[in-house]
Amino acid sequence: MIKEEHTAKTIDESQQGTPLALEGRTGNGRKLYIESYGCQMNFSDSEIVASILAQEGFNTTEQLEEADLVLVNTCSIRDKAEQTIRKRLEKFNAVKRKRPGMKVGVLGCMAERLKSKFLEEEKIVDMVVGPDAYKDLPNLVQEIDGGRSAVNVILSKDETYGDVAPVRLNSNGVTAFVSITRGCDNMCTFCVVPFTRGRERSRDPRSILEEVNDLWERGFKEITLLGQNVDSYLWYGGGLKKDFDKASDMQRATSVDFSGLLEKVALAQPRMRIRFSTSNPQDMTLEVIRTMAKYENICNYVHLPVQSGSNRILKAMNRLHSREEYFALIDNIRKINPDCAISQDMISGFPSETEADHRDTLSLMEYVKYDFGFMFAYSERPGTLAERKMEDDVPEEVKKRRLQEIIELQLQHSHYRTRQHLGKVEEVLIEGSSKKSDAHWMGRNSQNTVVVFPKEHYRIGDFVMVKILDCTSATLLGEAVEYSKNN
Ligand code: SAM
Repeated sequence: MIKEEHTAKTIDESQQGTPLALEGRTGNGRKLYIESYGCQMNFSDSEIVASILAQEGFNTTEQLEEADLVLVNTCSIRDKAEQTIRKRLEKFNAVKRKRPGMKVGVLGCMAERLKSKFLEEEKIVDMVVGPDAYKDLPNLVQEIDGGRSAVNVILSKDETYGDVAPVRLNSNGVTAFVSITRGCDNMCTFCVVPFTRGRERSRDPRSILEEVNDLWERGFKEITLLGQNVDSYLWYGGGLKKDFDKASDMQRATSVDFSGLLEKVALAQPRMRIRFSTSNPQDMTLEVIRTMAKYENICNYVHLPVQSGSNRILKAMNRLHSREEYFALIDNIRKINPDCAISQDMISGFPSETEADHRDTLSLMEYVKYDFGFMFAYSERPGTLAERKMEDDVPEEVKKRRLQEIIELQLQHSHYRTRQHLGKVEEVLIEGSSKKSDAHWMGRNSQNTVVVFPKEHYRIGDFVMVKILDCTSATLLGEAVEYSKNN
């Protein structure tokens, strides 16, 4: 069977669509059911939405049937994601027929893409809210309470929700996501994100540090700084990244880039593990790699999507770097930070992709030997440059066959990479019980590889030194040796 997506490590596929719930606030009488799909930004946004609605009297519930308000935070990245969400809306419709008072709202990228068309197409939807309009939710909810439909899909130049303290939904109490940028300016020709999430803007480092410090105080041990393109982070007092050239001398002198932010976060909480995602090759600087090497608490892992190994296709995708530049970046990462794990995103069957282009992708993978990857068949997205200017001309079965070859090669490389850990003693942060065995803990090493080992006396949230004894292509199996000095 061909799997469209594989070895999800940063995007936990098992989380897709899980209802998100947290402990209720006393005094809140209404029930909110919220499901999220797509990237981690969406899951992180749902925590902002829950926080805003908690002020409006809503507690979250995991029971769809008892909800007063049902929200689905949507993803438009591939057609398949949108189809999944449409199926969920049919399910909500069935429940709504039995509970006519229940209201349904669509949030996120699909809301932004389809705007008010959504209300006409999906008759059961009462509310449509784009990713930059969540602060308007109190007004929008009032509208639908009054029996009217409500839409706000206005994209913002400066909204970063820096002043909203997210509530942690379905949290393990150990790891958390912290948003640092919103939107994307890259304009990759296949990608719908710039249209659904707007222009790129960065969040005030002060509010990022406050959130990180607060998480540490509350017992969290690891954070992932999140953005569509974290390396492009640039704070100069607010505003769009594209307007930086209009900044004053003072704003320039006091601006903070991603390596600066990473350093501030690493120094603020030296015992907290720090990860970040996603990196775009064209924006990742040597300074970021050096900062990773300098601070022990910054994890040895970079998610570095490349999408294709062919220079011709990279150009057609508007990826703004060549195969050779990508290799130079990989070489630098390995030179400065030899233990760093690297993962990829890859797209098979982009318009006009030939067998020679595909072989370039396979040979690029051979060069890098990624630790893991997220691999997709090209899906044409309305409004993108590729949809407007290029013909989706690679037959579906060819896309799938190439995807399968990419996945098989990645499996071999993943296995090669996990074998390199055998015999080593590595620090693991315990996140919870192993899915397969209640007698085992599951955690991750610095490289983001899952490690499973017998529980003994250790607890969730402990940093433990684990001797790696065995492996599969995705998981390391070991035995605890002692507490890490980090504890
Ligand atoms: N901004 C991040 C980046 O550039 O890596 C993440 C973008 S997206 C949320 C995650 C991945 O989805 C992309 O890296 C790409 O591999 C894949 N993707 C995006 N658009 C796609 C499309 N039209 N068809 C297939 N895969 C797509």
